[in-house]
Amino acid sequence: MFEYHCPNPDCQTACDIHEAGCPHEERSRSEIEKAYVDILSVLSRLTCSKKSLKENAHEWDELHDKAFERLVQLGHIAKTDEGYYTIGDHSTRESKRPYSDPLATIYRHGTVAGCHDNGLFALIAFYSHIGLSWEETKKELKDWYERTGTWERGGFTEPSPEALILKKKHIYDEGYGWKTKGQAAREVIDRHRRSRDTSQQESVHS
Ligand SMILES: [Zn+2]
Repeated sequence: MFEYHCPNPDCQTACDIHEAGCPHEERSRSEIEKAYVDILSVLSRLTCSKKSLKENAHEWDELHDKAFERLVQLGHIAKTDEGYYTIGDHSTRESKRPYSDPLATIYRHGTVAGCHDNGLFALIAFYSHIGLSWEETKKELKDWYERTGTWERGGFTEPSPEALILKKKHIYDEGYGWKTKGQAAREVIDRHRRSRDTSQQESVHS
């Protein structure tokens, strides 16, 4: 299920209180929700250009533009080869990839000792937030532990990634707080990468 969060990636409030400095802070939750619904209700009927999306929407203002961008980023809206927009296939891998920090760093590089908990917390809350099922979330996380070498770096008391992930299901169920914990994890990862790069002069692939 997709929730209609504030389209500012640095805010993403799901209520009437926005992060300080959010450009949409005057907008209520119901206005934000309406912007998303205006867009999705057109695209559920039509595959069309952005121009005709605007023409067919009940209303269109700058909040709609931001909500539209957000839906594209999250993969809820896809672009066809002809350049038209349509309801996206949310199951594509691309749409599950966090595109902004701190999550992008965690997703790309994995976590290191000292931030395993915060990093995992942030990813689980993110996947819950974008509407992945628990099964999909577990699969993404298992792949992530393997792909990034996080599990091999050690520092876990659980016997396997799966055992650890299962212990954290409450985070998925609650689904909040990824930003603070994610930022804390990112700082540790960045420090670790800087010290490793200077000591080994090793190139980092992303
Ligand atoms: Zn906001």
